[in-house]
Amino acid sequence: MEDYPQTLLEFEDRFATEESCRQYLLDLRWPDGFRCPRCSHSKAWPTKRGLYRCSNCDIQTSVTAGTIFQDTRKPLRLWFRAMWYVVNQKNGVSAMGLKRVLGLGSYETAWIWLHKLRSAMVRPGRDRLSGTVEVDETYIGGKKSGKRGRGATGKALVVVAAEDKENRIGRIRLRRVSNASAESLTVAVIESIEPGSIVRTDGWSGYVSLPSNGYVHTVLRQNNHVGENLLSLVNRVASLLKRWLQGTHQGAVRASHLDYYLDEYTFRFNRRTSRSRGKLFYRLVQQAVDIAPVTGRDINGGRKIG
Ligand SMILES: [Zn+2]
Repeated sequence: MEDYPQTLLEFEDRFATEESCRQYLLDLRWPDGFRCPRCSHSKAWPTKRGLYRCSNCDIQTSVTAGTIFQDTRKPLRLWFRAMWYVVNQKNGVSAMGLKRVLGLGSYETAWIWLHKLRSAMVRPGRDRLSGTVEVDETYIGGKKSGKRGRGATGKALVVVAAEDKENRIGRIRLRRVSNASAESLTVAVIESIEPGSIVRTDGWSGYVSLPSNGYVHTVLRQNNHVGENLLSLVNRVASLLKRWLQGTHQGAVRASHLDYYLDEYTFRFNRRTSRSRGKLFYRLVQQAVDIAPVTGRDINGGRKIG
């Protein structure tokens, strides 16, 4: 049962206290009850300081440990407002905008918060695209008259991956790369797409090592010009993305800020069919507390095994 506020008033009523914010995180982090982050044990004792002590390995944990809220000195209420603000601004938010709305003391804090929220929007290596995926690169920003081709100055090269759902666009991934070399493009594909998927590209030499990395590689056409004459699904995503960036910042997005906007756009795009802002908020909080699963090494590092 997905439970989220629909309106600003509902949001304000619901998250008026630290306790109500904490309870919401608790329900999303451990929907089936407590799970120890170290040993996955399901039983814990609450401590006087609001922590949970695992009854198996004795580790003390909090609902925010390991999440983007860990060690924050700001109230959770403020974080909740930040998330609500982010999902409600159709054209995205800047660090300056977040600082102003939340009354944060410094631009740096707002900037760090955006980066943390970003990591909850798109989680590299998790929720990778699958099935048939079209991949191509496009240039973002820079002067219009910039030279096209490899290494265009002032422009950022972005790899666009889009699932092909019978010619409709499924989920997407956007990733900035330093150049169109096989090394950069292969890493971008591995982080964005499940091995075994069919990856469709043009004939650019940067994609030749996809088969040896476990992908079924389909070359749609020969084309050696990076960033030109995009494949059709990618072309649609790229123009929507550029329009969005243009609308928000008149295209004046610094390369250093671009990663945030790419992830924010991806988050919105992949949930574009959900009309409810409240549902976006719910997803963002859910991903913010969804920490990496316990690995074998983590368990062996604990006091008890198995
Ligand atoms: Zn434990």
